[in-house]
Amino acid sequence: MKTLFFSAKQYDKNSFTDQNKTHNFQLEFVEEPLNRHTAVLAKGFDAICIFVNDSANAEVLDVLAEQGVKLIALRSAGYNHVDLSKAKELGIKVVRVPAYSPYSVAEHTVALILTINRKTHRAYNRVREGNFSLNGLMGFDLHGKTVGLIGLGKIGVCTAKILLGFGCKVLGYDVEEQEEVKQLGVEYSSLDNLYLKSDIISLHCPLTPDTHHIIDSSSIAKMKKGVMLINTSRGALVDTQAVIDGLKSEYIKYLGIDVYEEEADLFFEDLSDKVIKDDVFMRLLSFNNVLITGHQAFFTEEAMREISRVTLGNIASFERGGEVENEVV
Ligand code: NAD
Repeated sequence: MKTLFFSAKQYDKNSFTDQNKTHNFQLEFVEEPLNRHTAVLAKGFDAICIFVNDSANAEVLDVLAEQGVKLIALRSAGYNHVDLSKAKELGIKVVRVPAYSPYSVAEHTVALILTINRKTHRAYNRVREGNFSLNGLMGFDLHGKTVGLIGLGKIGVCTAKILLGFGCKVLGYDVEEQEEVKQLGVEYSSLDNLYLKSDIISLHCPLTPDTHHIIDSSSIAKMKKGVMLINTSRGALVDTQAVIDGLKSEYIKYLGIDVYEEEADLFFEDLSDKVIKDDVFMRLLSFNNVLITGHQAFFTEEAMREISRVTLGNIASFERGGEVENEVV
């Protein structure tokens, strides 16, 4: 299988080249993201492999089909960046990595909660400058606090287990309730009750038409004043302008995000010598109670190994024919 990787970084090349020793596929890597201008690069490839900010919309899929691409291997769990009905119409199969390491994202979620609460990022800089003042660094005990998790799938459940270990009360909202989740000690709740009772709210549901801007001005108005909001799922779950208004009115007291609705123009690149033109993002950065990471929650050694192992396994299964493993339906 001749496969072209879009948006490929050195760490992708290392990880996939290592795993490819057992397959011997012909892999090629380009740094360009997939879009309507770059889709022609796929000419002569059987498959392409793309990441979260590559766009496989209808227009791009038409170009890919013209180039002869038959398989899109997503090296991610989320598939909101692919027009699935168009892919089906064109006979292009789409496969993904449904689970690689839910621990990676859950642990990063808790890292955001702890950092923004205990302000270790600010303390690190202070101490390096010989400033040992504690003014402004006071946090709160997580023990006894109520955390509301929206989406209790693989990552939500891992996050719940960690937070239960801290002595938090965990409320959960999901469109499907599972008995095993209740057994863990998670209390299922309506969304409104979760907003009302939670000191910390963390998002772990996929981005779908139903969840787009699930956090907006009306949901923020239902939250406890002083709430901490965490998003390690997908940027467009949150109406960023509404969150900025919540931060300005001090209704939202802390914000931790690993994803941002317009991240495709920013994340995964070194822009330190460039002018960032996204005023909404820069406004977010100006708050000292906002912590932003650039979509790195998945980025652990274990997760990268599993992503490359499963992705190449998916491609092998397509090559063998018959039922394709991990096809997105
Ligand atoms: P999952 O499929 O195991 O769980 C998702 C859960 O959300 C399911 O239980 C589902 O029933 C629930 N859900 C669906 N629609 C909902 C709705 N309208 N309201 C509430 N709950 C709803 O997925 P997962 O592996 O736990 O991943 C969750 C999300 O995390 C992914 O969709 C992806 O967007 C994000 N993610 C982010 C990173 C990162 O690096 N930041 C990495 C991996 C995944």
